[in-house]
Amino acid sequence: MRFTTRFAPSPTGYLHLGHAFSALEAFDAAQAARGRFLLRIEDLDRGRCRPEFEAAILEDLRWLGLRWEEPVRRQSEHMGQYEAALQTLSARGLVYRCFRTRREVAEAIATAPHGASGEVFHSEALPTAEEGERLARGESFAWRLSLAQARAELGRAFDELAFEDEAGPVHAEPGRHGDVVLARKEFPASYHLASVLDDALQGVTHVIRGEDLHEASHLHVLLQALLEIPTPLYRHHKLILSADGKRLAKRDSSATLRSLREAGKTPADVRTMLANAT
Ligand code: GLU
Repeated sequence: MRFTTRFAPSPTGYLHLGHAFSALEAFDAAQAARGRFLLRIEDLDRGRCRPEFEAAILEDLRWLGLRWEEPVRRQSEHMGQYEAALQTLSARGLVYRCFRTRREVAEAIATAPHGASGEVFHSEALPTAEEGERLARGESFAWRLSLAQARAELGRAFDELAFEDEAGPVHAEPGRHGDVVLARKEFPASYHLASVLDDALQGVTHVIRGEDLHEASHLHVLLQALLEIPTPLYRHHKLILSADGKRLAKRDSSATLRSLREAGKTPADVRTMLANAT
C-alpha cells in the first residue's frame, strides 16, 4: 500500500512551532517515501473551533511550503459516518450510556477500592427502565466504551493487541484508559473515535504525531480491532519545548508561525529553529 500520512490539527488557535514540527515530520516523511500527505481538520468541538483559525492554519502551512491532497477532510462534514460507527458498537453492546457527571466520575475514581489500577473509570449500562426514565427526562449522557464487553468479544486477541512504533513493537494496554467516552448525547464522536475512523477511511498507513499521543495509541488499537479496520504504523515524535522547557501551548503567542512570519522569519529559519530545538 502506498505510504500515506497526515497532519490533523484542530482549528482552536494559531499554529505554533510544535505544530510546525509535527506537520513537517509527516510531510517530509511522505516526500521521502514518494507517498501521500493529507491534511485533516479536526473540528468536531464546535464550541472551540473557529473558521478563521482553519483559514489561518491553511495559510501558515502553505507559507511553510507544505502541499497536500485536495479535498481537505473536515470532520464536521462527516458526522453521519461517526454516528454509524457508534451504532455498530452499540448494537454489539460495546458502548453504554453513562449519565454520571464529570464530578461523579471523578468521585467514583477516587473512591474505587482497587488501588493503583483503580485510577480509571468503569461502569455498566443502567437497567433498561431507569435508563428509559432518564432519557425521557432529557438528561445528558456520554457513550462509554465497555472494556469488559470489548474483552469478552475479542477474547485472547484483547491481550495480544499491539502496534508497531518506530522503536519497535508495543504491547497495547487499552485497559489503562478505563471506559473512555466515545461520544456524548449532543456530540457524535470523541477525538478517539473520529481519528481512528478517519485514518482508516483516508487510507493512512503511517500515523506521525507527538509523543503526547502515545498513550492514546493504546486505545486506538483496540478501537481498530473492534471496528475491524487496519492498524497503521505509528511514529510518536519528540515535542518541541519553549525556551524555559515547557510544552508549547496555543496561548504562547510568541511561538506562533504568524508572529514569526511577522517578525521577518522565513520557512528556512523555522526549520533551523526546529532542528536546534530537538
Ligand atoms: N487534532 C489532534 C491534535 O491536535 C490530532 C492528533 C493526531 O494526530 O491524531 O492533537
